[in-house]
Amino acid sequence: MALSGLEIQKLLPKTNCKECGSNTCLAFAMKLAGKKAKLSECPYASDEAKRVLGAASEPPVKSIVFGPERTLKLGEETVLYRHEKTFVNQTLFAVDLRDDEDEAAIASKLARIRDWTVVRVGKTIGIDMVSVTQRGRDGAKFAALAKKAWETAKKPLVLRSLDPDALALAAEAVKGSGSLLVAAAEASAGKLVAAARDNGHSLAVTGSTLDEVCALSARLKEEGFGELVLQLPALSLSERYQINSIARRMAIKENYRPLGYPFLRYLESGDFLEDSAAAMVEVCKYGGIVVLPEFDAAQLVALATLRLNVFTDPQKPIQVEPKVYSIGEPGPKSPVFVTTNFSLTYFIVSGEIENSGASAWLVIPECEGMSVLTAWAAGKFTGALIAKAVKEYGLEEKSESRTLVIPGYVAQVSGEVEENLPGWKVLVGPQDAGDIESFVKARLAG
Ligand code: SF4
Repeated sequence: MALSGLEIQKLLPKTNCKECGSNTCLAFAMKLAGKKAKLSECPYASDEAKRVLGAASEPPVKSIVFGPERTLKLGEETVLYRHEKTFVNQTLFAVDLRDDEDEAAIASKLARIRDWTVVRVGKTIGIDMVSVTQRGRDGAKFAALAKKAWETAKKPLVLRSLDPDALALAAEAVKGSGSLLVAAAEASAGKLVAAARDNGHSLAVTGSTLDEVCALSARLKEEGFGELVLQLPALSLSERYQINSIARRMAIKENYRPLGYPFLRYLESGDFLEDSAAAMVEVCKYGGIVVLPEFDAAQLVALATLRLNVFTDPQKPIQVEPKVYSIGEPGPKSPVFVTTNFSLTYFIVSGEIENSGASAWLVIPECEGMSVLTAWAAGKFTGALIAKAVKEYGLEEKSESRTLVIPGYVAQVSGEVEENLPGWKVLVGPQDAGDIESFVKARLAG
């Protein structure tokens, strides 16, 4: 049962020492009650407080970790909507291998799962996990495929079989990989908990109704095994949307522990578009691990981009370091561009300058991660600040061209830039970064 802020405060030292970052123990207690802080942030919490508050201060969705170093994380969510705070551990993508696929197809898929990456706003994104499904009856073959997948890709696995003995065999074959066994039902739970515990894996819990899943996760937790992921029952897309929302709401708003675990979903409708839409629903609506039936680079790029948007902290825009960047091989005659340090803006502008074939300097002042117009409206991208950055980053020494291109959206600051940068020619660039190439050819060529 969740404790109120006042109840929690009674268990704290009440010295108001501020070391936890809150001004008073009461303020800290209120944060704990709202799941916005962890008890470990108070260095003076007594053992009694730790014992009583342990459950209350835990995030309502348990942290579940994967991989040999336990670096791949799910759970720890404390809010239902990203604008309330942020989502902390993003949906993980796995691609499925089946033991009835031919060897060449498996080898080719496995290599692509291992090697595929895409770069988005400076982050290199790959596939998180490999799923291995048993369709045949040979448990040894399934375990051998699991071993091969682990040794080839070195990514934690999602091992699925209806045969608990085969799953136990595969779990042992990839001991230490920090994988997930799928899935324990009422009858198989005992054997699979032992297989997961003995080999350092987590366990998915399944059932034909939500009540069955809850009953089993509660039972396993009571018996001392809590490294769980929930495979929620649902058929249609709308049902999945509903059941994910209901389950996460119960966990976060009602602190209902049997549903306080990450979710697992296999997408295998046989229809590419339906699976893609379903994967997007999972990313937007609390999906934990999403298993895609095939490797498809276009689908993965779209999903990875969506995920990046959903799991970005809305209060902290992704930023690049304020400094001067070299595009191509700029020299004294090269023009100087300027834009803000919002990552998306930086990568679009630098990419378009690169596409134009020109070499240039790109000055990025500190704009707190805002886009051009927002930064200008907030007084972070004024003519004086642009000129200051140009000077601070040594462009007066680097550039003989003394030609500075400012974004078209802030044409109004050109006079102020010129006043603060005597001897420089200020050109107003295009509003749309897509027009940079034609701008370079028309205004800067030669
Ligand atoms: Fe109170 Fe602990 Fe925070 Fe100090 S660190 S103000 S004792 S809650």
